[in-house]
Amino acid sequence: MNNSRILVTGGAGFIGSALIRHYATCTEVQIANLDALTYAGNVESLASVVEAPRYRFYHADICDAAALEQIFTEFQPDAVMHLAAESHVDRSIDGPASFIQTNIVGTYTLLEACRAYWQGLPAERKSAFRFHHISTDEVYGDLEGTDDLFTEETAYAPSSPYSASKASSDHLVRAWQRTYGLPVLITNCSNNYGPYHFPEKLIPHVILNALHGKPIPVYGDGSQIRDWLYVEDHARALCRVLEAGKIGETYNIGGHNEKRNIEVVEAICALLEELAPEKPSGVAQYRDLITFVKDRPGHDARYAIDASKIQRELGWQPTETFESGIRKTVSWYLNNPEWWQRVLSGDYKLGRLGETASAQQTSGENS
Ligand code: NAD
Repeated sequence: MNNSRILVTGGAGFIGSALIRHYATCTEVQIANLDALTYAGNVESLASVVEAPRYRFYHADICDAAALEQIFTEFQPDAVMHLAAESHVDRSIDGPASFIQTNIVGTYTLLEACRAYWQGLPAERKSAFRFHHISTDEVYGDLEGTDDLFTEETAYAPSSPYSASKASSDHLVRAWQRTYGLPVLITNCSNNYGPYHFPEKLIPHVILNALHGKPIPVYGDGSQIRDWLYVEDHARALCRVLEAGKIGETYNIGGHNEKRNIEVVEAICALLEELAPEKPSGVAQYRDLITFVKDRPGHDARYAIDASKIQRELGWQPTETFESGIRKTVSWYLNNPEWWQRVLSGDYKLGRLGETASAQQTSGENS
């Protein structure tokens, strides 16, 4: 594992950057990051690794077959970890086209580039090669009962354009294994949270709105239940699956931290009372900013993951509880205003560090 070469797609995003930071810190692997740098891509999240000789960056779109061929030929990966995606449910409702393009067409284009490259590898490298597809628990749809859990056998029933596009990509990946023998692994993970999370997502949105004295919007009555996983626990799980997962298998990844959205928001407000007691003017308590807004169409009531397979077969389990992870997260946002201020102002798009010379294709579709 330590000598291997891993191509990460979407490595400038929230989870991809955590994965690359983990590989750069804890292993000796060579890492290539292939990312189109859409609004969600932020190379400043990789500032700690960008100068490392084992890291390189390809500014490219997974829908661009010619760029992919060039990158595979040049980098010669032993594994692909595919995280590039359009990932925000609200955006998928407002404009599904880029979700279909990147999540479905992009995954198809990447699979084909990968297949052509893999078929040309010498026998030993061919059998060791892996394509690891990173997906979501949202493909399983909604859980009605409060005791039910998503297992790897749960039938797919996606509700939003986002989850439908991710479900499609999972099906493509499985078909490329069954039909062409491409050695694939699939992981389906619950909601992630932690440092470097783009401020449009629930947890950073709540933290930053509270710090600015702005209303904290909560969909419906806030009763939707999600399982929350600290992003660094997810990064460790992905490494473990790549290292030891069985070809063709799916592994659910979860944090054993089911919370109602309103509980999450209240936990953040309580932590801010403790860690940032000097509030914006006019704000008596952070929780006074909570504002219930019209629910999102098709909003799933509950997601909950049975992550026993990955624990039993690969020995992975989360290290953070929700209480420890959310404390770390709130503290990180309080201690790193320069990161999120540049995201809020849009300046993060100006500093695009560490690009390699080749394959500088960008996506007209997604940028
Ligand atoms: P993100 O939106 O933060 O990052 C996505 C990255 O992909 C960005 O860097 C973006 O620039 C890049 N990208 C988008 N379109 C591209 C294209 N056409 N070509 C190349 N790069 C492109 O997403 P994230 O939250 O880090 O999620 C990563 C993956 O994990 C996604 O596949 C998502 O479906 C999955 N996932 C996310 C969560 C979560 O809670 N965030 C949970 C489970 C699974």
